Amino acid sequence: MADAAKALLMLSGGPDSATLAGFVAPELPAGNRPTAIYLNSGHRTDAKEIEAAEKIASRIGSRLEIVNIPELLRALRNDRLMTPSEHSIVPFGNAIALSLMMLCAITARATAIYVGYHRDDAGDNEGYSRRAMDRLEALAAIDRDDTPKIIAPFHTMTKTEVFKLGAAMGVPYDLTWSCLHAGELHCGQCPACRDRQCAFASAGLVDPTRYKPEAMTRDGVGAG
Ligand SMILES: [Zn+2]
Repeated sequence: MADAAKALLMLSGGPDSATLAGFVAPELPAGNRPTAIYLNSGHRTDAKEIEAAEKIASRIGSRLEIVNIPELLRALRNDRLMTPSEHSIVPFGNAIALSLMMLCAITARATAIYVGYHRDDAGDNEGYSRRAMDRLEALAAIDRDDTPKIIAPFHTMTKTEVFKLGAAMGVPYDLTWSCLHAGELHCGQCPACRDRQCAFASAGLVDPTRYKPEAMTRDGVGAG
C-alpha cells in the first residue's frame, strides 16, 4: 500500500462493484478518493476484469492497486475465490477475500472497506451476509482498537435494485466485465453472463453488453 488512504473499495470490474464505486465516490470528500483494490487470482479472466476495474477506478478519480494471490489459490485447488454463480468456489473464499481487504486497510490505516455485496449474494452464500462481515470485524478487533469498518451499502438490496440504482446514477455498465471465460466479448452463456443478463432484464434496463454474436443469435436477443 503506497500511502495512507481513508477508504478502500473492493473492485472486481463487475457491475456490482462498479455501482459501488459510483455510489461511494460522491459520499466522500473530493480530496479523499477511495483506493480501489483488485484481488488478482491468476485466472484467465483477470486481464479483462483488471481492464474494467482500471476504467471504473479512473472515472471516480481513484487509483487501482492489484493484490496478487494466485499462489494462494493454487494451493487451494485453483478454484475461484468469490464468484457466487460459479460451481467451483474456494470454501471460506469470501472470508479470505475480506481478510485480505482487512489486512490492506490496516496497513494503509484506512478506516473503511467498501464492498458491493447485495442480498442475492448473501442468499447464495452466507459468507456474503452482514453477519459474516460483522464477525470478521469482531475478529480483527480482538487485538486492536482502530479496526476498519466493512461497509456494504447494498446488503439489503437485490441485484436488480442495485442495477436500477446504478442506472439512475449513470454507472457505465458497458465498461464492466462479468464473463467467466476470457475473450474479447462476453460469451452470453456462462452463469455469470446469465446473471448479468437477468439483472438487466429484471431491472427493465437495456443491456449495453457486447456478447459474442453466436450467443446473441441463439438467444434471439438479436443477430448481426
Ligand atoms: Zn460468459
